Amino acid sequence: MSDELPKHYSPQALEEEWYSRWEAQGFFRAETGTGRPAYCITIPPPNVTGELHMGHAMQHAIHDAVVRWQRMQGREALCLPGTDHAGIATQMKVEEELIRTEQRNRYDLGRAAFLERVWAWREKYGGAILGQMRRLGLSYDWHRTRFTLDEGYADAVLRAFERFAGKGWIYRGTRMINWCPSCGTVISDLETEERLLQGSLWHIRYPGAGGGPDVVVATTRPETMLGDTAVAVHPADPRWRQAVGGQVMLPLMERLLPIVADEYADPQLGSGAVKITPAHDPNDFEVGQRHQLPQLQVIGFDARMTPATGRYSGLDRMDCRRQVVEALSAAGLLVKIEPHEHAVPHHDKCGTIIEPLLMEQWFMDMKDLARLTLPYIERGDIAYTPERFRGYAADWLGNIRDWAISRQIWWGHRIPAWYCRHCSGPGLIPLGGLERERALAEGSFRVSVEEGAHPVVSLKAPERCPGCGGGDWVQDPDVLDTWFSSALWPFATLGWPGDTPEMETFYPTDLMITGRDILYLWVLRMAMTSLECVGKIPFKRVLVHPTVLTKDGRRMSKSLGTGLNPLDLVNLYGADATRFSLLYQAGSVQDVRFDAEIENNQVKASAIAETGRNFGNKLWNAARFALMNLEGYTGAAPSGETLDLADRWLLSRLVGVRSQVNLCMEEYRFSEAVRALYDFVWRDYCDWYVELAKPRLYGQGSGKTQAQEVLVCALEEALRLLHPVMPFLTEALWQALPAAARGDAPSIMVAPWPLEGAGKPDPAAEAEMASLQQLITAVRTLRSEMGLAPGKKARVLVATPDTAAAKTLEAQRLYLELLTRAEPLVVGAALEAPPGAGSAVVGTLAVYVVLENPADTGQERARLNRELEKFLKLVQNQTAKLANGQFRANAPAAVVQKEEQRLEEYRLAAGQLQASLERLGKG
Ligand SMILES: [Zn+2]
Ligand SMILES: [Zn+2]
Repeated sequence: MSDELPKHYSPQALEEEWYSRWEAQGFFRAETGTGRPAYCITIPPPNVTGELHMGHAMQHAIHDAVVRWQRMQGREALCLPGTDHAGIATQMKVEEELIRTEQRNRYDLGRAAFLERVWAWREKYGGAILGQMRRLGLSYDWHRTRFTLDEGYADAVLRAFERFAGKGWIYRGTRMINWCPSCGTVISDLETEERLLQGSLWHIRYPGAGGGPDVVVATTRPETMLGDTAVAVHPADPRWRQAVGGQVMLPLMERLLPIVADEYADPQLGSGAVKITPAHDPNDFEVGQRHQLPQLQVIGFDARMTPATGRYSGLDRMDCRRQVVEALSAAGLLVKIEPHEHAVPHHDKCGTIIEPLLMEQWFMDMKDLARLTLPYIERGDIAYTPERFRGYAADWLGNIRDWAISRQIWWGHRIPAWYCRHCSGPGLIPLGGLERERALAEGSFRVSVEEGAHPVVSLKAPERCPGCGGGDWVQDPDVLDTWFSSALWPFATLGWPGDTPEMETFYPTDLMITGRDILYLWVLRMAMTSLECVGKIPFKRVLVHPTVLTKDGRRMSKSLGTGLNPLDLVNLYGADATRFSLLYQAGSVQDVRFDAEIENNQVKASAIAETGRNFGNKLWNAARFALMNLEGYTGAAPSGETLDLADRWLLSRLVGVRSQVNLCMEEYRFSEAVRALYDFVWRDYCDWYVELAKPRLYGQGSGKTQAQEVLVCALEEALRLLHPVMPFLTEALWQALPAAARGDAPSIMVAPWPLEGAGKPDPAAEAEMASLQQLITAVRTLRSEMGLAPGKKARVLVATPDTAAAKTLEAQRLYLELLTRAEPLVVGAALEAPPGAGSAVVGTLAVYVVLENPADTGQERARLNRELEKFLKLVQNQTAKLANGQFRANAPAAVVQKEEQRLEEYRLAAGQLQASLERLGKG
């Protein structure tokens, strides 16, 4: 497969070709029973409706780097992909399409026909995100791709539900839930989005009853007052001490409300009294529980006022608000209205304002599971990177709340609970305006145990009803929260509840890589369900990856126009450069400010991805150089006493970078690993070693062979170390190298990972090379300050009283002459500075660069004088500009700062020119 390397590095063609070759050869597959130690990651399944964003790209760059690294270490490495059915998001997409194209809703279509549409949608579009992921070069085992609604997975979900129900953890309960009136379902906290709204704060007077004082309460939602069942004041508030136990009259409803003492009331706010609406506010619900207050539902599931509101019944919640305010104002009970900006929860998928409502739902009591799991977190059986998240996890488990697991949608795992039509009749309430028979037949109804429903949990409809002996059952209409099924991801994907070889080989998995936002709702739920269902932890470590922000620290979001499609980066710079850009920035600091210019969700340019591509170019050219200079190469490993200083130095640096990369990979410090490799390849290998090796490579004899051996050996190993970051480029180059031709491995993907311990560092060579580099750099600086053309030879004098140092310099004479264009190079103990020479001091060495030709000196002086004059003029103009008060007053701070910086640069340049002139002397 050792093809001739094309002259230019062009990532796109290369990436497409190698991805299909790898896949065709089965390198992504992992098998059971190979006897190799196993390594497994199950990737967080993206939503089947999803589109790749930068968060995914970061996550997958890390996933693939880790799994490639493990595979190269000889492990049977499985990275298992898949998608989540994403109940609400997917159902919404199809419902929108239905309304748009056929003006029909899901009830018009009916449950079965609607679900057929969703499956069809999934067949057509559901694989899109996996296709997008492949373009990043991910080496996942696509044969094992799972979907949270596929047959085996659905079975696992129902088994788990049955098991939890058997333990007595599943129950029907009435709780405050987040209700989306437009989607018609309960949604999780995670799916709500706080948006700042410009609203008002209405101050309303509730007249005192029985001689008690009037109370003024403030609210942002006046319509909810119709459901007030108390007024609360703080027990320590002296203003209200007498009033507690008294009553006020609720305006418009003419209902008496008790005044209760509760610490929830904040004495610092307004009058210190707050209205309590237990059925429509989560905090008020808690207050209501403490004081046994009635829960009066005044807003219905359709966001309209309920019959309990009398004359307001049937009004939309916003219309009702207007009428309530008018009526209060007419009655003189509206004390004042203040403009008030406040955060209001919206449904993130559809943008509707969430209505907190009391509703019957299926709940799961999580206390036993949390108790079971906590010790595993506390002992570190499940480790966290960064470590601090382990403490947060323990706190969350310690304060666990019951989980509302039912959703009033159709796309998902339908809850295996059954109702006898005969005995549960009144508790089964039709939805969507359907007549009863049809509503029950297709599951378009709401269940209320309070009103008479009797659920029986069972995977299949029971034979006989324990109540009436009948057999006419309807299944629960709700589906399980999507998180319920994804909580089983690591083991359901490997075949649980079966006793599969995959479970045997790969479970518990090794690593869970995820974002911060789902550490509790998802990651800990996986831990809890796994310990219960499998009796094992699901993964040994949780790695929390950084959040990707824009360059100026804003959230990347399509709706803000700050979205960045990673595939745009891939198209512009290649997948390797994209992965490089992500991993280069994936440090231990949590947020990554991704260096890219984004306009309207389009990436214009990305400096960091460009750095990645330039790096690829540099490596490509270095590899081509090496390949073109291999005539007579023996294939032997570099060794022996005869190695040159440059050889010894590069091999020692290789030991250093290998050990650093190993350490960083072990500790998931990807950014440091990438930076170490970047420096090694760019600076040590390309900028120094290749230059130092040229005289030997262009010559003949043993020096040439040795240089070839070092050139190939260091490059080949650097490619292997870099492979997890830039898989395509490293494969293409590696295939062209002699290692591939020798048949060491069919692909760099399965070539052995360079482990720490091979070779020893050579501190003497590193120190010697460091002084040599300092000296060369000093001469180059002098030459450039003196305006010497790059190719022009000049006499270089190095004076040192130290005979050992002089001896070393003599030994490296060839390198020094080559890299400083010194002709001749004179090393001596007592050398005088020639007139007109440029000079510098490097450690104990005095260095002089001499201009030989006085005519040159004259020309040089004239040139320097012209340059100096130019810069003095610039300094003058710039000083005047900055002295202008008008400019300073009107220009933005950033512009002023830039101009000041410019002045500083002009001054510096003028100073350097002045120094150069002085160095030339008067001669
Ligand atoms: Zn919604
Ligand atoms: Zn019955």
